[in-house]
Amino acid sequence: MVDLKSQYEKIQQEIDTAVLDVIRSTQYINGTEVKNFQQDLENYLGVKHVIPCANGTDALQVAMMGLGLKPGDEVITTSFTFVATVEVIALLGLTPVLVDVLPDTFNIDPESVRNAITPKTKAIVPVHLFGQCVDMQPLMELAEEHNLHIIEDNAQAIGADYIFPNGEKKKAGTMGIVGCTSFFPSKNLGCYGDGGAIFTNDDELAQKLRVIVNHGMEVRYYHDSIGVNSRLDSIQAAILRIKLKNLDKYCEARRAAADYYDKAFSGHPRIKTPVRSKFSTHVFHQYTLVIDKLDQFALQKFMGEKEIPAMIYYPVPMHMQKAYQDPRYTEGDFPVTEMLSKSVISLPMHTELDEEQLAYITQSVLEFLDKN
Ligand SMILES: *Cc1c(COP(=O)(O)O)cnc(C)c1O
Repeated sequence: MVDLKSQYEKIQQEIDTAVLDVIRSTQYINGTEVKNFQQDLENYLGVKHVIPCANGTDALQVAMMGLGLKPGDEVITTSFTFVATVEVIALLGLTPVLVDVLPDTFNIDPESVRNAITPKTKAIVPVHLFGQCVDMQPLMELAEEHNLHIIEDNAQAIGADYIFPNGEKKKAGTMGIVGCTSFFPSKNLGCYGDGGAIFTNDDELAQKLRVIVNHGMEVRYYHDSIGVNSRLDSIQAAILRIKLKNLDKYCEARRAAADYYDKAFSGHPRIKTPVRSKFSTHVFHQYTLVIDKLDQFALQKFMGEKEIPAMIYYPVPMHMQKAYQDPRYTEGDFPVTEMLSKSVISLPMHTELDEEQLAYITQSVLEFLDKN
């Protein structure tokens, strides 16, 4: 799905030097590169505080711990996401409250969120799925009205801009009280291992988050709160500094590939190409088609035989997962999510796709649909 090798080869010299410099410095944990990357990312995002951590899942968990969410508190999120979003809510003893998504953007439906709010609701976790922002304005109004925290799961949309109705732009992940991201290798800003970060403009919360990621410790060996051990390695930070400089260019390359796909599939009676909303730029973490009357697994197998990877993100909605079974939910409760889980297919999407590959991929999809 991603070609990390070709991407690396283009920046190899710079990366190799940066990694060797860290090795020679012996500052493997919390070295200067971590601090430098933190500042670079703060500048890029236009956010006051970036707190690096070990991965995106930890980022979400630490954010919820920092906000002081307590067992029994309800947290509203989407039924159509990667499991980590719901996993950390459950892990902390909070109650995940799932709602459906919108069919055009695959993102959380603000109206469904409104209907799910109860006196126990403490937070909303919008997920900027596949590289496009959730419509934040209505969600932020709801949060304000009901005094709820917004925790943005921005693992898939780093670099995307949200455009407010008044024209003001903000980077995905910087609009809620806290935003979380992942630097997993295949994410839009990926390192060469695991990594993550938390963003906030709130000084007090930032301080709490910094303490939590470091064993609840402000003064060495004095622990004022229960924390975790969640750090970004210096080597990964050094790699991320180089990749961050290229991020906008990488987003452009993804958009160019998406343009090619859009054109090749336009007008096909069964294919719905990704919608690009007015309120968000799209950084195409995934290029996901919705195809009418599709046997997803047959298409995936057909593509596989042609040595083209194709993935189903996500085949099982959260409320249908064994681990998250809940008497409150049953099949049919989230019709859009359920429809999508049966009709989506994601095509290869990365920064190194060339026209020959794109032509081969699109022709293969069309060939399959001709016959099936
Ligand atoms: C990847 C991802 C995460 C988790 O990130 P990790 O770094 O793998 O822990 C969380 N939420 C979403 C939506 C993701 O895509």
